[in-house]
Amino acid sequence: MKIGVLTSGGDAPGMNAAVRAVVRAGISYGHEVYGIKDGYQGMIEDDMVLLNHQSVSGMLSKGGTFLGTSRAPEFLKEEVREKAVQNLKNRGIEALIVIGGDGTYRGAMDLTRMGVKTIGLPGTIDNDIAGTDFTIGFHTAVETIVDAIDKLRDTSTSHRRCSIVEVMGRHCGDLALFSGICGGAEFIVTPEHPMNKEQIIERLKKHQKEGRRHAIIVVTENQFDVHEFAKEISEKSGFTSRATVLSYIQRGGSPCPEDRILGSRMGTYAVELLNDDIYGVCVGVRDSRMVHLPFVNVVGQKRPKNELYGLVKKVS
Ligand code: ADP
Repeated sequence: MKIGVLTSGGDAPGMNAAVRAVVRAGISYGHEVYGIKDGYQGMIEDDMVLLNHQSVSGMLSKGGTFLGTSRAPEFLKEEVREKAVQNLKNRGIEALIVIGGDGTYRGAMDLTRMGVKTIGLPGTIDNDIAGTDFTIGFHTAVETIVDAIDKLRDTSTSHRRCSIVEVMGRHCGDLALFSGICGGAEFIVTPEHPMNKEQIIERLKKHQKEGRRHAIIVVTENQFDVHEFAKEISEKSGFTSRATVLSYIQRGGSPCPEDRILGSRMGTYAVELLNDDIYGVCVGVRDSRMVHLPFVNVVGQKRPKNELYGLVKKVS
C-alpha cells in the first residue's frame, strides 16, 4: 500500500516522532510512505516525497514538524479538495495519516467521504480533542509552562508580586490546569473553571494580610485582558502585579519522553489500523491504551471536565 502522511494546523512537539513511527512501521509492514509537505497545502500543490528509514533518522528529539505545516483555507472548497485527492490518486496513494487538531480532522472526514482511507492522530499542545486522554505535544508544553512559572515565582517572591501567566489552550483549560498544579499556582482560571475577578482580588487581599510574598495566577487565553487585570490587582489588592503572555514559546522545544512515546505508539497504531483495513477513524489514548473512534464521534465534541479540578481546591 502507498500511504501519505502529513502534519497540519498548529505544530506540536512529538509530531516528528509520530511521522517517524508511521514511516518506520509502514516500511516494516511492506508499505511505501510519502511525506506531504505543509499539511493540506502540499496535497493541493502535489508537494510530496517518498520517505525511507534514513529520512526520519534523528527526528525523535526534534521539535516542530520537519514536514512543515500550514493553515490551508483553500482546502475548505470542494473543488480544491478534489484536485488534492486527484494528486494522491495519480501517485497511487490510497491511504492518508493526518496529524493535527480539530480542523485537520474536519478535512480528514471530508477526505474519507471522498474515498481516501484516512486516519487522524491528535497533534496539538492544547489537549482539546475528544476521545483521547492526551494529545501529542501537550506534555512538552506543560513542561515549558511549568519552567516559566517556576522562574516567575522566584522573581515574584523577591518583589512581593502577583504574576499572571497566560497560556494557550483555546477552549480547553488543560494546559492551565496541569501546569498550574505542577507550578503551585494560587489561582487557575480556565473556560471550565472561570473565576470572578473580584473574588480573586478579595482573596489576594487576604493573602497580603497573612504576609504571603507572592501569588501566581495561571489563566487560559481569551478569558480576559491579563494586562488590564494586572493593573486592577496592583490598584486594589496590595500586591503589585505583572502579566506574562507565554504565547508561541509553548509550542516549541524538544519533545519530552511522554510525547515521544505517544507519537511513536500512535503512528505505529495508525499503520496497523490500515493493515486491518480500518479507516475513517482517529486514534486516542485512554487509560494508557491505544483506541480509535470514528471522526464523527470526536469532531466538534467537548471533553469532559477534568477530574483534577477536584484536586485544585485542596492543594492551591
Ligand atoms: P487544527 O488542525 O490545529 O485545528 P486548523 O483549524 O487550522 O488547525 O485546521 C487545519 C487545516 O484543516 C485548515 O487549514 C484547513 O486546511 C483544514 N480544515 C479545517 N476545517 C476544515 C473543514 N471544515 N473542512 C475541510 N478542511 C478543513
